[in-house]
Amino acid sequence: MEKLKNYIGGKMLAPRSRSYFNNYEPAIGRPYSLVPDSDARDVQAAVEAAQSAFPAWSAMPAEERGAIMMRIAAIVRERLEPLARAESRDNGKPLWLARSVDIPRAATNFHFFGTAIQHFASEAHPMADGSVNYTLRKPLGVVGCISPWNLPLYLFTWKVAPALATGNCVVAKPSEITPKTAYLFADICRKAGLPPGVLNIVQGSGAGAGAAIVEHPEIEAISFTGGTATGQQIARTAAPMFKKLSLELGGKNPTIVFADCDYEKTIEETVRASFANQGEICLCGSRIYVERALYDRYRDDFVRRVKKLKPGDPAAKNSRQGALVSEAHLNKVLSYVDLARDEGGRILTGGKRARLRGRCKDGWFMQPTVIEGLDYSCRTNQEEIFGPVVTLQPFDSEEEALRYANGTVYGLAASVWTNDIKRAHRVADRLQSGIVWLNCWMLRDLRTPFGGMKDSGVGREGGLEALRFFTEPKNVCVKL
Ligand code: NAD
Repeated sequence: MEKLKNYIGGKMLAPRSRSYFNNYEPAIGRPYSLVPDSDARDVQAAVEAAQSAFPAWSAMPAEERGAIMMRIAAIVRERLEPLARAESRDNGKPLWLARSVDIPRAATNFHFFGTAIQHFASEAHPMADGSVNYTLRKPLGVVGCISPWNLPLYLFTWKVAPALATGNCVVAKPSEITPKTAYLFADICRKAGLPPGVLNIVQGSGAGAGAAIVEHPEIEAISFTGGTATGQQIARTAAPMFKKLSLELGGKNPTIVFADCDYEKTIEETVRASFANQGEICLCGSRIYVERALYDRYRDDFVRRVKKLKPGDPAAKNSRQGALVSEAHLNKVLSYVDLARDEGGRILTGGKRARLRGRCKDGWFMQPTVIEGLDYSCRTNQEEIFGPVVTLQPFDSEEEALRYANGTVYGLAASVWTNDIKRAHRVADRLQSGIVWLNCWMLRDLRTPFGGMKDSGVGREGGLEALRFFTEPKNVCVKL
């Protein structure tokens, strides 16, 4: 089996431990490559490489840094097909999705921040007596970026790109469950002329390589995307060291459908919002609240559409649902269906593991699942499932819909479907959610603040927010 490597100081290196663990292909349920089980020694080497690269990289004019980043973006585009195939194989997502969303977005992330840095400016605060304050924004130094498995190269580059654009050097760790495209990305950086040590990619587990990054005293900031429990653990370690922290965590996103919505569009888009990428997107809507007057019609049409989303070989053109990322994750998602039954839920469709024939007969597929009959306060409606499972519940008033929607510890994303423009804005204003979509879902402008409130995270990514996070402001006051 292929042994993946770390990318440290511009070189492809085996882990110091010389040990590896299996990387699985979810669609067939078998290992196909080996992931370096890196530890604090590899992280130390990566930090040293980053420190020696930092003076030159941070002093390089933004135009030159941006030009290298744009070359990286261009090579990602050139290599779209092999990268999309690698992503689909590693994660289980349909190949068409990796080809149309994940990999193009990885290129766009580098292009976006490579150009954004050319326009980044800092403030001046003139005073009444003619004195002036100006703010310098300096790179932090060596920063850590830790990303999850659901949108592997997409989220990896979403963090790494603004960190590099602002002149930092990076120690990054992709998820151990989907290490392949970050591994392939190392070669792209080399080909694009990124100086050695500017980006270091350490592969390995969360408890091993991940914790070593968070604990390292010379890593100044941690940008993390992953589960809320992991975020809490990272905060416990990093906060007493006064590291800057950006935490993008879990969600339990509400979808609120009013009876006056644009019906056909709402059905189509809310099915997509529920089951895109097998429901393994932090932004997917998992609790659908429907105004009672529309409830029966919506439920029947929704379920009819969901039944057509057949799980299939991710490599096949017509597969609408790929495999879940791991056996453990599949079992976790299935356990929530059992819980929903115990809590009195009715399974309207799905609810079981999907068994395919041929190549994918042992793959980790699940039938898209719709459940009704549960109260908003039950565990099924409170805990993040992060798979192809949604619940439906009717509501009678705007007030009630808001109570359900806001009634969890999470606050990442919400979507609202209505033709009443006043109501749309009123509801958006009262939702406890970092992101609200009105009559759309996952429509992204990379300049906007991205992230969650409550237990969905701390801080925002995207646009200026990310450029500010990865820089330290320094006020200089001049008495004239
Ligand atoms: P996870 O928290 O298990 O792992 C995320 C990353 O953190 C992985 O690289 C992992 O190796 C690493 N990690 C684990 N323990 C660590 C530790 N103690 N110290 C340092 N690093 C550690 O999450 P996951 O299962 O990979 O991803 C799914 C979760 O991510 C879901 O909760 C989902 O909602 C969330 N997510 C959030 C967003 C967002 O933008 N808010 C986006 C995507 C995914």
